[in-house]
Amino acid sequence: MSIATNLNTIKATLPKNVTLVAVSKTKPNSAIIKAYEAGQRIFGENKIQEMSQKWEDLPKDIEWHMIGHVQTNKVKYMAPFVHLIHGVDSFKLLKEINKQAKKHDRVIKCLLQIHIAEETTKFGLDKNELFEIINSESFKTFENIQVEGLMGMATFTDDQKQVRKEFSNLKTIFNSLKQEIDTINTLSMGMSGDYKIAIEEGSTMVRIGSSIFGSR
Ligand SMILES: *Cc1c(COP(=O)(O)O)cnc(C)c1O
Repeated sequence: MSIATNLNTIKATLPKNVTLVAVSKTKPNSAIIKAYEAGQRIFGENKIQEMSQKWEDLPKDIEWHMIGHVQTNKVKYMAPFVHLIHGVDSFKLLKEINKQAKKHDRVIKCLLQIHIAEETTKFGLDKNELFEIINSESFKTFENIQVEGLMGMATFTDDQKQVRKEFSNLKTIFNSLKQEIDTINTLSMGMSGDYKIAIEEGSTMVRIGSSIFGSR
């Protein structure tokens, strides 16, 4: 199947309120251009250096989403152009994003990553840490970031009940966050293997790589 066909097939199944992030990590510019020509403008990368290179090389109307774990000392490289950072998992990182965004006179959109999986290897905050951050005095002074919602990754398992339970937990946290901040509107959950369940559980943004571009 071609990239354009894969993309159109997936897009046809997505509800209107669900945004598709085409995850192009490790894939060459030629593959991204195929998706671009089929109308896709939102791409996700997990390494800052690779994303920056692609931003330089490719059309400027692409929205680049950072979906991977972010090291504080690398924020400066994507601050000029990144559209949405999905994996914000500490106060320190948020503070650095605010600082770098200010240097470029930008407001950078962020999602806070919540740890929902059983695996201890996945990054993210728990519910208490989330509310500690957003209720802190300094959070209110960050004028160059806009927290738009939450992101999470389910356990890598065939047990669909488990995956559904984890997404449902994230949706519950999302709902309580929405009650505190009324601009919250994005729940990033779901990848190639589990995005259908994620949408049933309330996802508004899916991050799909291999089902579009082939395996990595
Ligand atoms: C790689 C990656 C994806 C896409 O995974 P696929 O299984 O290829 O769809 C989604 N989210 C994150 C955070 C990733 O690192």
